Amino acid sequence: MSRMDRERLAELAASLAAEFAANASLVDDAAQFPQDNVGRLRDSGMLGLLVPAEYGGLGGGVDALVDVAKVFGGACTSTAMIFAMHCQQVAVVAKHAGPALRDRVLPDIAAGRCLLGSITTEAGNGGQLLSVSSPLLSDVEGWLLERDAPVVTGGMAADAYLVTMRTAAERPANDVTLAFVDRSSADVEFRSGWSTMGMRGTESVGIKVKAPVRTDDLIGGAGGFGTVARTTMIPVGHLAWSAVWLGAARGAFSYVLSVLRDPGRRSRDQVASDLSAHNLARIRLSLDVLSAYLQTCVDEFQSGADPSDAAYHIHSNNLKVLASEISYDAVNQMVSLLGLRLGYARTAQTPLERVLRDLRAASLMYANDRLLVANGKLALIDRAIRLSGEQSAVSASLIVHG
Ligand SMILES: Cc1cc2nc3c(=O)[nH]c(=O)nc-3n(C[C@H](O)[C@H](O)[C@H](O)COP(=O)(O)OP(=O)(O)OC[C@H]3O[C@@H](n4cnc5c(N)ncnc54)[C@H](O)[C@@H]3O)c2cc1C
Repeated sequence: MSRMDRERLAELAASLAAEFAANASLVDDAAQFPQDNVGRLRDSGMLGLLVPAEYGGLGGGVDALVDVAKVFGGACTSTAMIFAMHCQQVAVVAKHAGPALRDRVLPDIAAGRCLLGSITTEAGNGGQLLSVSSPLLSDVEGWLLERDAPVVTGGMAADAYLVTMRTAAERPANDVTLAFVDRSSADVEFRSGWSTMGMRGTESVGIKVKAPVRTDDLIGGAGGFGTVARTTMIPVGHLAWSAVWLGAARGAFSYVLSVLRDPGRRSRDQVASDLSAHNLARIRLSLDVLSAYLQTCVDEFQSGADPSDAAYHIHSNNLKVLASEISYDAVNQMVSLLGLRLGYARTAQTPLERVLRDLRAASLMYANDRLLVANGKLALIDRAIRLSGEQSAVSASLIVHG
């Protein structure tokens, strides 16, 4: 994207964010899918942010996605996450789908006619991404897909889903295929509702999908999901989700500063005390550190990272873990700083308790524990200890023993 395009994109994102901020507390209170906000994402072209220009999209990269997701995160975390997860799926289609599927789907996404949902979590299997028990079943013209999905963000509003399946009943559970399912050709049953502590507007309902699948619908080919996940779905997801969480924490911080700058709202101790200044500095430090790490990970992704490099995956997993922890801790500290009336109370004027509840979901949204277990194993493989931000392991090799 040119510099001018980026400037126009920033203006569009800011104006949409102002609309999303205005109804964020309503969306949260009613646990209501933000239809109007998603309508604005559709008609503004934002759903096509990552769709290449040749298909009518905005042709943005992951850096643009991160910028926009941060801005939306500061307005309405649920809307921002619906957007981020949609874009994560778009990145997968744009990079790994065959030409027939790309030609069929990308123009629709660019025109705002296709919101994508993600089905990876499986009932009974938790959040284990690279393993699925439900198999694709052979059919005369291809396959039949039948999948129970307990948590699907925007599941009722999505126009199509990307679904992970075991490649065949006789294949092991870790032989996984990613299928594109058009809602119009699928039988979709909504099985459970969504009533949670936070992220209430994502309407991440349970659904059961039955659909025919053709060869063209297999993204990355039969059994190709491992590569799709490592190359695109996981890294883009971690970048986009982290941007949403950082944006949410920054939005909350902006509210805190507005209170502290307003003599009519703040208490005397809140600005006068060194403790208050110290706490404010700590929060700002956390946000800056997270922002710098996010940018380093964007750069690593955009420089064409090697998906077989263990260090690259360690950095990407670290980002998700760090962002979920730092953003939540920062908002938690903001609640302490402003106290009961301005921080902890549940009123339309104080977004902190809503944002804190939203951010509580971040460590669960693909369990941090699973990522830390994976990173422990990857750390044993990355003998050179290539730390984040290092181009090569040359300097690290000086300190390797054994
Ligand atoms: C807001 C939100 C939106 C979501 N949207 C979607 C969506 O659109 N599509 C989708 O498919 N899913 C979605 N999910 C589901 C999400 O990706 C996770 O799969 C899900 O939250 C995990 O649920 P869990 O905590 O019950 O399961 P688990 O991941 O199974 O975790 C349960 C517990 O077991 C522990 N645990 C289990 N196995 C291990 C292990 N091997 N190593 C270490 N610890 C382990 C965990 O630490 C945790 O304490 C969403 C979740 C949230 C919160």
